[in-house]
Amino acid sequence: MKTIIYPGSFDPITCGHFDLIQRAAKMTDSLIVAVLHNSNKKSYFSMQERVEMIKKCTENIPNVTVDSSEGLLVDYINRKGGKVILRGLRAVSDFEYELQYAMLNQRLDKSIEAIYLMTSSEYSFLSSSMVREIGSLGGDISGMVPDAICSYVKERLMQENNKDK
Ligand code: ADP
Repeated sequence: MKTIIYPGSFDPITCGHFDLIQRAAKMTDSLIVAVLHNSNKKSYFSMQERVEMIKKCTENIPNVTVDSSEGLLVDYINRKGGKVILRGLRAVSDFEYELQYAMLNQRLDKSIEAIYLMTSSEYSFLSSSMVREIGSLGGDISGMVPDAICSYVKERLMQENNKDK
């Protein structure tokens, strides 16, 4: 299969995202993980931090590259020359959002297709916002984010929490 683009906020990358990346990398010659700005979400980690964290987690997967973009997903995809995006599904609530997202992208560019991977059961509950919440309260986030970035994420979340006091 040609290039697959996996867009998302990755604020931060979780084990659920990483599991999808590992599985999708086996299905294609080239997987681009693209950190995008989601106007519905206020981001916690900077774009650069998010990119660096994903790079660290994926450094041993040769066909994965990490990138970022501020603009529209369809414009980004056309610039990259890929036409297939990957998204993940956890629950019915994800389906509703993903359907809307896919319809919108189709309206902007009919040639773009999306493929979906179901979450692995052990990560079905996991989201970046849950990691941020638990980590900022000093809870244990090991097993929720990849080992390569776990201590960095813990430290950053604690720092931010202390700043607010
Ligand atoms: P966005 O703001 O674009 O939704 P996210 O980083 O929250 O970005 O999610 C990116 C994609 O990864 C989405 O398709 C989401 O459903 C999927 N995803 C997030 N967490 C998981 C998980 N635990 N298992 C499988 N897919 C997931």
